[in-house]
Amino acid sequence: MNRRLFFIAAAAFVAMLGVNAKVQAAQPMKVSASFSILGDMVKQVGGDRVEVFTFVGPNGDAHVYEPTPADAKELSESKILFINGLGLEGWMTRLEKSSGFKGTVVTASNGITPRKMVEDEKTVTDPHAWQDLANGKIYVANIRDALIAADPGGKATYEANAQKFLDGITQMDTTVKQAIAKLPPERRKIITTHDAFGYFGAAYGMEFIAPEGVSTESEASAKDVAKIITQIKKEKIPAVFLENVTDSRLLDQIAKETGAKIGGTLYSDALSPADGPAGTYLDMFHNNIETMSAALSS
Ligand SMILES: [Zn+2]
Repeated sequence: MNRRLFFIAAAAFVAMLGVNAKVQAAQPMKVSASFSILGDMVKQVGGDRVEVFTFVGPNGDAHVYEPTPADAKELSESKILFINGLGLEGWMTRLEKSSGFKGTVVTASNGITPRKMVEDEKTVTDPHAWQDLANGKIYVANIRDALIAADPGGKATYEANAQKFLDGITQMDTTVKQAIAKLPPERRKIITTHDAFGYFGAAYGMEFIAPEGVSTESEASAKDVAKIITQIKKEKIPAVFLENVTDSRLLDQIAKETGAKIGGTLYSDALSPADGPAGTYLDMFHNNIETMSAALSS
């Protein structure tokens, strides 16, 4: 090999190494999230540096889920598992065990103040903390800190993405408060299938009543349904709302028997598919507040 050729070959080799190093750095970190709302939050904070696998997808019910062998494989390859906690994902322990997951479990709701409710004389914890945007900010901070701990090289990116997301949440919080302030106080009362909006109600001054409890695992009893029908008639509650994760038959029946109108579909425990009206955490709030306002304003 003459000298010139050698230099060209060496330069090409160095260039190749450089390209390889770049490809390596651009390889996203694999993480898992238990359900679609949390999955979106992790995507917003992680951006291009993170590849998020979500177990319970759009319109799926995160209270009850049957993990698949594909879920176990995805989890085994993940560096972090993000869960909501507060008793939402009863099926996760088994999935974690069967996958041999060796990464870090991060409970996104850590640091929120849990709501307790009494159901059938037992105190239960309400897991739907994400429905209060102030809690959403705590989720975002926990996600950001966990991503930085696992991938310190991405610190600046995660901090910038989280800040942008937090600003969006602050803006949405104002939007929701303004929309509710416009509703006549006596109409700030909503029927849904299960108790998914307790945090929303407490944060924004709305009352939510549901025949089913904080989990979709147990069905509403005939007594619970009769009680709600009486209440709707007595308090002249104007509308009942369907949820994207529950069967509509129970509420169809309640609407029929009371003359309350069906106010539309609220996204409670899952997002819509990406091309639907609630494809992200913030779009979910946007859709829900628009739906509530349209049905309750007059
Ligand atoms: Zn729920």
